[in-house]
Amino acid sequence: MIRRIGSRHVASVTSNVDGIAVRAWPGILHAEVHGSIHHWQCTVPCRDDLWPAGEVAVDAQRFELTGELPRCPWCGSVARPNILMFCDGTWVPRRTDAQEQSLASWFADHPGALALEIGAGSAIPTIRHLCARAGGAVIRINPDPDEPDEPRATATIQLGAAAGLTALIL
Ligand SMILES: [Zn+2]
Repeated sequence: MIRRIGSRHVASVTSNVDGIAVRAWPGILHAEVHGSIHHWQCTVPCRDDLWPAGEVAVDAQRFELTGELPRCPWCGSVARPNILMFCDGTWVPRRTDAQEQSLASWFADHPGALALEIGAGSAIPTIRHLCARAGGAVIRINPDPDEPDEPRATATIQLGAAAGLTALIL
């Protein structure tokens, strides 16, 4: 779909923090609205700089840290993933804010854009509301028959992501 439409006409918005969308679809605009586990920040935070996440040694059997805690290169405090958690007063939103500003510009350049809302639930409806902000039709792909239709979608495909996208494209 991206090749057919053209990468500058496609944007990805996700609340996932695993970076899979960024790796899967390079060259399009991405907004990771809850941050990314691939970036670290200071826990204080002493500044709003981020840096690429490094390796952390973990005993996979006991799920315990076996090496050193990652540290802030400026103040030495413990580092943390730059992901937004509940009641998170120390999250550094700088990177996500910049992505969301780019998304707002993209919305302005693409009025009435079609939104494919894939697997977004209603418990934390951030993605649902962003899809509605696109301004055009919203095609909701969600296999859960108990999910409320709020905000309303133009059409719902009650399948999982892979099956729903395949049905839509073919
Ligand atoms: Zn620091």
